[in-house]
Amino acid sequence: MTTRSETRTALDHLLTEIEHRNPAQPEFHQAAHEVLETLAPVLAARPEYAEPGLVERLVEPERQVIFRVPWQDDQGRVHVNRGFRVEFNSALGPYKGGLRFHPSVNLGVIKFLGFEQIFKNALTGLGIGGGKGGSDFDPHGRSDAEVMRFCQSFMTELHRHIGEHTDVPAGDIGVGGREIGYLFGQYRRITNRWEAGVLTGKGAGWGGSLIRPEATGYGNVLFAAAMLRERGEDLEGQTALVSGSGNVAIYTIEKLTALGANPVTCSDSSGYVVDEKGIDLDLLKQIKEVERGRVDAYAERRGSSARFVPGGSVWEVPADLALPSATQNELDENAAATLVRNGVKAVSEGANMPTTPEAVHLLQKAGVAFGPGKAANAGGVAVSALEMAQNHARTSWTAARVEEELTHIMNDIHTTCHETAERYDAPGDYVTGANIAGFERVADAMLAQGVI
Ligand code: NDP
Repeated sequence: MTTRSETRTALDHLLTEIEHRNPAQPEFHQAAHEVLETLAPVLAARPEYAEPGLVERLVEPERQVIFRVPWQDDQGRVHVNRGFRVEFNSALGPYKGGLRFHPSVNLGVIKFLGFEQIFKNALTGLGIGGGKGGSDFDPHGRSDAEVMRFCQSFMTELHRHIGEHTDVPAGDIGVGGREIGYLFGQYRRITNRWEAGVLTGKGAGWGGSLIRPEATGYGNVLFAAAMLRERGEDLEGQTALVSGSGNVAIYTIEKLTALGANPVTCSDSSGYVVDEKGIDLDLLKQIKEVERGRVDAYAERRGSSARFVPGGSVWEVPADLALPSATQNELDENAAATLVRNGVKAVSEGANMPTTPEAVHLLQKAGVAFGPGKAANAGGVAVSALEMAQNHARTSWTAARVEEELTHIMNDIHTTCHETAERYDAPGDYVTGANIAGFERVADAMLAQGVI
């Protein structure tokens, strides 16, 4: 029987090896540490999981594709970006995970996101593997025609690697309904197939699922509500901080408001807005989704209740709840200390890995309920899987039906994480619960399918 300390030593050894084999990929190292450091109890308790090769296979993507994406801007100048698709693990189903278009994208970022996606997708219980992709293309300030040409060039290569039974991308940072439309159009043109299930996040009139745009934000609020319920509280009257002002942030704000909480902030890379009356969602949507503007315009047009703080961080505003919904490592140890000082009760991650490891540790030590992204933001990919199911059956469900399924899935993920944490002597630790529960599902499938 392997002891926990022997298992921990073996995992430390593997983590060192991961750093050597994947140099200059700090985000991937961080994600691997975050998961592997919580697995010692399950590897010690279930010797079959500790077999040489299982965890080693899990941290190595099944396939990584890197490609050139040339495109012309409106002045006829040629630009060359880099495209990525990392197909990490297909033990539970076709690779599934979004595409990110942001200048910070590189192989390490896509690998961190793909690795997280394996466990997140397993937690949904919906039969989807893990993958992620994207490009260092920056859509900010580009015309619709430029974005279209970029998307067409990107798909001209990507189409060889994806398919409804193989790999099903969706949106992420910088990839919303507009980009999915252009990508789907080019896929359809090249392949001459109406293969709706090849991409999710499509428009509702041409194969998209109702509630998919809302799903990540709504799901995160439902997860936060479940964590509060566990402590005998609810969302009613709670002041909430939301960072970001994109897809996840907007629908987080919408659901918080609907459930009686008061979301008072939003942000983008230029700074943040605090609005003591609560964020006016119609105004925010007009600025971000229609005009594609910056958040300072919100404060200018909202009146005296709102102010714009250039370059600041929303975490300095006192509140009961924090829902980071922008990007990785946006909530560091200092921000966590400020949140704790201001009496925060729960932090629930809408973004992927927005909280640094030091900040997670500090929050958990202070007794704050902490919902890790791979559980709390799984609503988006869950409804993507429901979109695939609707596409397969050539049908579409009502918004009410999708939202009911989403609520059921989020509550189920919460219960799974909570119970798994208790089973492994870590009550209330949703990080351990999510990592172990996701790992068990993937590891069982990998063991059953042999060494491949
Ligand atoms: P969007 O592109 O719609 O919005 C991203 C928001 O975050 C924007 O307000 C953007 O501001 C801000 N942001 C992005 N990068 C930075 C940065 N480096 N510094 C400061 N602000 C930044 O993306 P989504 O809302 O879709 O995604 C947000 C997060 O949620 C990501 O971590 C994503 O991986 C995660 N997620 C998304 C899912 C989905 O369904 N869309 C599903 C699960 C997780 P600016 O415009 O100034 O860059």
